[in-house]
Amino acid sequence: MERQIVKSKLALRMPSEEATADDLPLAQDLLDTLAAHAHECVGLAANMVGIRKRVIAFDNAGTPMAMLNPSILEKTGAYETDEGCLSLPGTRHTTRYQRILVRWQDLSLAWQERWFEGWTAQIIQHEVDHCNGILI
Ligand SMILES: [Zn+2]
Repeated sequence: MERQIVKSKLALRMPSEEATADDLPLAQDLLDTLAAHAHECVGLAANMVGIRKRVIAFDNAGTPMAMLNPSILEKTGAYETDEGCLSLPGTRHTTRYQRILVRWQDLSLAWQERWFEGWTAQIIQHEVDHCNGILI
């Protein structure tokens, strides 16, 4: 089910809570909402649809992917870039990393850990920031 996008900075600045099995439908809603906004958006965090849970969905090099409780364990190769956000107007300057080691729970709630790089890594960093209440 597609959900409405939240644009309140106050709400977006509140960190999200640990996700559980109850949040699996939410992960699907994020994938649906991402698909509905595919022309303007490459990633979403649950607080962007008003639910303060640590769930994200993003475009993984052409394949939609959802993560529960993602965290970035390691990062290498800092660079400066400008990013947009569906919840905010315009673009903003930020520091990102070329390669990141991410730990998360998949849609079977199994823990996964692997490196992502480039554009996908940048999207994940943006969405994990959202989970932590950080806006670029
Ligand atoms: Zn954003």
